[in-house]
Amino acid sequence: MTTTLLYDAFVLCLGEADHIFERGYVVVEDDRIAEVGAMRDLPEGRAFDTRIDCSGKLVMPGLVNAHTHTPMTLFRGFAEGVSLLTLDGWYNTIRTLELVMTADMVPAAVEVACAEMIRTGTTTFADQYFFMDQIVPAVAKSGLRAALAYGVVELGDPVARERELTRLDAFLEEVGNHPSGRLKGWVGPHAFFVDNSPETMAREKVLSEKYDTGLHIHISTTGEEDDFCRTHYGTTAVKKMRELGMLERPTLAAHAISIPEEDWNILAESPFTCVIAASACMRAGAEAAPTVGMRAAGINLAIGTDNVCNNNDYDLFLEMRTLAKLSSYREKRPGALPARDVLEMATAGGARALGMGDMIGALTVGWKADLIVLDQTGIGWTPFPANDPFTALVYSVNGLQVTDTMVDGKWLLRNRQWTTLDYADAVKRQTADVTRLMALREAQG
Ligand SMILES: [Zn+2]
Repeated sequence: MTTTLLYDAFVLCLGEADHIFERGYVVVEDDRIAEVGAMRDLPEGRAFDTRIDCSGKLVMPGLVNAHTHTPMTLFRGFAEGVSLLTLDGWYNTIRTLELVMTADMVPAAVEVACAEMIRTGTTTFADQYFFMDQIVPAVAKSGLRAALAYGVVELGDPVARERELTRLDAFLEEVGNHPSGRLKGWVGPHAFFVDNSPETMAREKVLSEKYDTGLHIHISTTGEEDDFCRTHYGTTAVKKMRELGMLERPTLAAHAISIPEEDWNILAESPFTCVIAASACMRAGAEAAPTVGMRAAGINLAIGTDNVCNNNDYDLFLEMRTLAKLSSYREKRPGALPARDVLEMATAGGARALGMGDMIGALTVGWKADLIVLDQTGIGWTPFPANDPFTALVYSVNGLQVTDTMVDGKWLLRNRQWTTLDYADAVKRQTADVTRLMALREAQG
């Protein structure tokens, strides 16, 4: 057994206990949190394999990015001035690149994404894309915890449908046996109804049951699927999904901008999570999701960066800030979504969404040691206690103040240096990939 003591820290536990220890300590044993408490209760002279002085530091649970597409760091900057929340916008920009990109461009792009998440305090993320055979080893190398959804794009093509469903089945089988224990395979219908047909969706649901996993989807980015369902089935997308039995499965639904209010109760009673991606929504010029209303209705909510073509970064602290401000702006009142609630969405809310609500998202004894350390000697924290830690974390600091990131009891970032990934090298490889990608697109005309 390996033991690590983090001492003299400002410890923010979050979760149900919600303890704050202004001078606290955390003991990590192997991959688990073994103790959390106040310094005055730590007996002197105890032996630990490693002792880390955290004076001037804040220790808190790692953040959960509940919606992204990691290989798309390859396309950062390629979709400026375009809304990727419409099927047309995506099809005419990103899809043209996706059709010429090659599998060997994926690893560097995923490493860049993972390194940026580690650097800014994310310890778990939910991905949805294709090229999963390339994504899985890159994420495993990073050390992050992840729910990886195999993206199914069929666009009405029955040949694509059969091929993708067969590959999805094989992927779920394979990743379920991944030796890291940190990766979980998910089913990723790209867009319900608009892209994936009800027949495909029914089969995706069966696969999610077979492998005891969930569905990671986009929904209500523009209301296109509601219009489609009203025209074809005379009902809303949520009601049609309920009819198909989809809502029995854990579902991560990105954006959820315009789900009709009449359907909120259905979602509150289902293992359904709306993942709010405020930056992507604002950059697209879309409506703001009714976060405050959906939360009050009892729907589980989480936060995602979405891809970095419409964000354009992985800093979940900035994402929390954007969402908090956007909520006040939408509701036309200050503090509409309290900082504490925003932090809850970025930790426990995301953990619940991924089926990990009893193992990550809070510093709880016996849970996984997924935690981050922030430098409180930098700018934006004072004066304490008026600028309380929740307010500071959401409104006045950012992810670059993270100094250390731990997942499963292992440091992925130590003293601001990556331990598992070489960011500079990944960027260099990615830059060469982008040059090739542009040449391929050029050749396609
Ligand atoms: Zn997305």
